[in-house]
Amino acid sequence: MNKKCTCGCGNKAQETPVLPKLFGGNVFNDKVMKERLPKETYKALKKTIDTGSSLQPEVAAVVANAMKDWAIEKGATHYTHWFQPLTGSTAEKHDSFINPTADGGVIMEFSGKQLIQGEPDASSFPSGGLRVTFEARGYTAWDCTSPAFLKTDAAGDVTLCIPTAFCSYNGQALDKKTPLLRSMNAVSKQAMRVLKALGNTTSSRVISNVGAEQEYFLVDKEYYLQRLDMISCGRTLFGAAPPKGQELDDQYFGAIKDRVSAYMKELDNELWKMGITSKTKHNEVAPAQFEMAPVFSTTNIATDQNQLVMETMQKVALRQGMVCMLHEKPYAGVNGSGKHNNFSLGTDDGINLLEPGATPEDNAQFLVFLCALLKAVDTHADILRGTCASSGNDHRLGANEAPPAIISSFLGKELSDVLENLAAGKKICKKDVCEYLKIGVDSLPELPKDNTDRNRTSPFAFTGNKFEFRMLGSSQSIAGPNVALNTIAAEALDEIATRLEKATDVNKEILAIVKDTMKNHGRIIFNGNNYSEEWVKEAKKRGLPNLTSTPEAIKSFVTAKAVKLFGKYNVLTKEELESRFEIYSEQYAMDINIEAQTAKNMTKRLYIPAAIRFMAELGNSAAAAGKACSVQKNLLARVGKLTDSAAKKLAKLEDETAKAQAIGDAGKRATAYREKVLSCLVSLREDIDALEEITPRDLWPVPAYSDLLFKL
Ligand code: ADP
Ligand code: MG
Repeated sequence: MNKKCTCGCGNKAQETPVLPKLFGGNVFNDKVMKERLPKETYKALKKTIDTGSSLQPEVAAVVANAMKDWAIEKGATHYTHWFQPLTGSTAEKHDSFINPTADGGVIMEFSGKQLIQGEPDASSFPSGGLRVTFEARGYTAWDCTSPAFLKTDAAGDVTLCIPTAFCSYNGQALDKKTPLLRSMNAVSKQAMRVLKALGNTTSSRVISNVGAEQEYFLVDKEYYLQRLDMISCGRTLFGAAPPKGQELDDQYFGAIKDRVSAYMKELDNELWKMGITSKTKHNEVAPAQFEMAPVFSTTNIATDQNQLVMETMQKVALRQGMVCMLHEKPYAGVNGSGKHNNFSLGTDDGINLLEPGATPEDNAQFLVFLCALLKAVDTHADILRGTCASSGNDHRLGANEAPPAIISSFLGKELSDVLENLAAGKKICKKDVCEYLKIGVDSLPELPKDNTDRNRTSPFAFTGNKFEFRMLGSSQSIAGPNVALNTIAAEALDEIATRLEKATDVNKEILAIVKDTMKNHGRIIFNGNNYSEEWVKEAKKRGLPNLTSTPEAIKSFVTAKAVKLFGKYNVLTKEELESRFEIYSEQYAMDINIEAQTAKNMTKRLYIPAAIRFMAELGNSAAAAGKACSVQKNLLARVGKLTDSAAKKLAKLEDETAKAQAIGDAGKRATAYREKVLSCLVSLREDIDALEEITPRDLWPVPAYSDLLFKL
């Protein structure tokens, strides 16, 4: 229909934009709840969502019914409790709404009890000893603070997904969400004490917020399917460097290719329907590497949504004949993928506690929260590092493309000067006028809003009104790092709150807090180049931990310091921490074991046979040429040497893998895989890659890096 514009201009009328209508169409969000729930039910549910008060069974029953009706209208036939076991991905078991009737038909039912609690067979999820086999039951419990949503698969099946926490019979957390919710409560409670001590009378809750920038690679599915390493390990274990890599810097923010554009469009649509605020998309540094960033949200919702983002990225790619790789290092020699966790604390009435602000009252608040985070990050750098540890991410951290394994914080010169001068009681210069800065009277000198680009090497950079934690791996759940950030912030704020509550002069006390923070934790501030060798030395001098591998880094979960911290704020018990150490150690060992088995398989069944074929060809040719040409002979010798060497290295790899596999203790097994097996993999790769460089294209059994990286 060609409607005319009503203003009389004669032009075609603008249609209502599609996006706002599409956005959130598959989410049982606040708007839908308001429309569909009786007023009293809506109020009761909202209270539970906002304050954490318990929900009455009668209320749940009404909500369940409304949710079911809404889902069925949208085509849903099934529902699932959607949860996040310690594998780091998500789990779902679909049940249909049907209930048989006496006359042989069915009715569609969904009770309050089915909404609130589920009982999946939990025995196949890792529990790290938390759940003894005779008590294999696990329970899922509805998390009403993250909205239910609909997932549609390619066949058109629609499922109502209910975000849930997953616990053992004894209430121990078997998942990533439970500790996250606990940590959000902890930080809210302590931050509120600080705010009250500073005179805030309007806020009632503090919320931790996160915007997670997600990097990924795309590869043509045809090529991917020809590579066992990509299929089983998510990364290439072999592959000679292509003639062109990322050295021209022509990819970052470059024009997006049509095929990729089409992918991003479908991805955006799918995400928007699920209420995920996909905002930014662009080419990343490496060829065939891209990024997507949503608008930030609570750490809980952002964590759920990031899981959906990763899942949707993979699904949509397959539909378009591509594979989306979330591994931290799919290819050697070009950048790997990470995730930037933009973190801030805000109040329920909209105050960003990391906003420097324009008035002295805001500054006092800002300085206190800034100091709390610096103190927290310095005190528990080891724990934060531990939360980013994985076999994949070990390839990035410290590899001059991602932050080093050492945690430090970039504040920028202006802000560092403010803190230093305040601590030293020195003058501060604002627009060429130098004076003493008095908290509670003056306002801070103007700070540059966005200093992101001035230091991209820092693991924990202050970027105007938030901290950007850049250590996370692209495939990781963001739950762990945010559990840690919330909890360490809670501890630091707790101590600060106690000081402020006792103080007779709050402003003086704030100054003392700044002084103490700079004295005791100033070492965590580093504004220089984190990739440099000097920084590694300097950090060592400062006593900052440098945990370069996963087995080493995850030990930080089971130190006395960690047990005390997470116990004090009821986030994770000693047993829960130990279970995580156990599970992550096992995961690491399994990852490297799979890589070793894959390398063995490919070398024996693909690479050595290819080399033998090549040698046969060379042998025949050398015989035919006789003395006329020595190229064949020389090449034959070189191929023979590399193949022999590869075979020897393979034997060593098999030997070390068998030894590592036999170690009973999970932590020690992980260490053996890291120290013994991984180096064998690296060394074997050298020979295979060297062979690839001299073997004819038609004899080489797998697609080359130039196919994978440039043929999209
Ligand atoms: P860039 O890092 O490219 O400069 P931005 O800083 O605007 O981009 O945003 C990066 C991410 O940080 C986005 O996901 C954004 O929503 C998020 N973000 C912005 N402000 C905050 C905040 N106050 N708290 C948490 N995340 C935020
Ligand atoms: Mg950023």
